[in-house]
Amino acid sequence: MDPQATWDELLDAWRKRDWQRMQEASESLLNWLKRGGFPPEVFPTSGMGSEWNQKVVQSACTYMVDLARRVMADPNGIPAGVPFTLSCFECSEEGPDTYDEAICEGWTEIEFRPECCAENFLGACPEHSE
Ligand SMILES: [Zn+2]
Repeated sequence: MDPQATWDELLDAWRKRDWQRMQEASESLLNWLKRGGFPPEVFPTSGMGSEWNQKVVQSACTYMVDLARRVMADPNGIPAGVPFTLSCFECSEEGPDTYDEAICEGWTEIEFRPECCAENFLGACPEHSE
């Protein structure tokens, strides 16, 4: 296994929110590290060192495998334990505090977007749902 390629794959899966691939890449890296394999470079040009890379990769992979499982365990892809903060991707209107309320109000296309800074979920507000 090439841990650097697997790390790059994991980051790509994160950007594309490909939860299945994220879980597989995370588990591969965790198993690789457990068997004594060398860690990938988290920031290839910064020279943080092997121990730092090992700790960060272990932590990131543990988080991602858990998150991916929670997303895939929910029929709507809404992971348990993540605060439900919702905005419309068209007008930035803020949605209600729960998924069920949002559905009742007419929100659609609600998706978990962990890369967002201000909210955890994006969707289409009732006005922008079509
Ligand atoms: Zn809107």
